[in-house]
Amino acid sequence: MSEELKLKGLILRETELRENDKFMTVLTDSHGLMSVYGARVRSQKDRNFSACQLFSYSEFVVKRSGDKCYLKEAALIHSFFIVSDDLVKAALAYYIVDVLSDMAREEDECLPLLRLGLNCLYCLTERSTPAKQVKAVFELRALSEIGYAPDLVGCRRCGRYDSADYYFDIEDGCFKCRDCYHTTEDEMINQQKKLNESEGIYPGSHLICIVSPSTMAAMRHVVYSPAERIFAFNLLDEALDEFGDICEKYLLCHLERGFKTLDFYRAVVD
Ligand SMILES: [Zn+2]
Repeated sequence: MSEELKLKGLILRETELRENDKFMTVLTDSHGLMSVYGARVRSQKDRNFSACQLFSYSEFVVKRSGDKCYLKEAALIHSFFIVSDDLVKAALAYYIVDVLSDMAREEDECLPLLRLGLNCLYCLTERSTPAKQVKAVFELRALSEIGYAPDLVGCRRCGRYDSADYYFDIEDGCFKCRDCYHTTEDEMINQQKKLNESEGIYPGSHLICIVSPSTMAAMRHVVYSPAERIFAFNLLDEALDEFGDICEKYLLCHLERGFKTLDFYRAVVD
C-alpha cells in the first residue's frame, strides 16, 4: 500500500548516498518531520536539484510506502542558501535548522515551528536584522512553540508586573520582582541552615539571571506577540547581549543538550 502526498517543507539536513541520491530531513507543513529519499537529486542536471538543496523551502510530491518516503517531484518556493555568503549568518542558519530537527517530531503539528524557521531565515537573508537578535528570538519563541513558554506575566510570588529588575529562574521559566526575590532568598538561607543543621540536606539551587526592564520587555514581546510581529522591536547592544545570553541559557536548559552547530557559531562570532 502506498499513497501520494503533496506538501511544503524546509530541508533541514541531508545525507549523501551512493550515485547521486540523498536522504533529506524535511520539516513539513502537514506531516511534521519527514525523511525523504531523493533519487539522483544531487546531479546538477536533475530537474529537482535546486528544490532539494539544504535550506530550500519547496513543494514536494512524495510517495509514501510503509515508513519510507520517496521523492517524485519538487518545486522550489524559496532558497535561503544565500546565507553561506556570510560566515556568521551561515553558522546561525545551520544552528537554527539543527535545533528545529531536534525539536520537531514525525507526524506532529509542526506548522508554528516551520513558520518560525522560515521567518528567521528570511530575516537573516533578506533583512538587516542583527544575527544576535535573530538567534535569541528563535531560541525563545521555538521553546514557547513546543510547550516551554516562560510565564512572564507577573512576579511568581506577588503577581506584580513591573520591577526595577527581574530575577528570572531559568529552570522554572518564571520571575520574581526584586522585593520578593530578596525575601525568598532570606527565607531559603534560613531554611537551608535549619535543614543542614538537622539532616545535612542541601536543597538544589536554581540558575537565576537578573534581567533589566528592557530585556524583560523584549522577552514578553517574543513570547506573547503574534508570529508575524516577533521581530518588531529594537534593543541597544548591551541589552541585546543580555537578552541573547538568557535566551540561549533557557534553550540549553530545557532541551538538556548542547549543539555542535552552536559551538561553531560561538567560535565564528568571537
Ligand atoms: Zn513580587
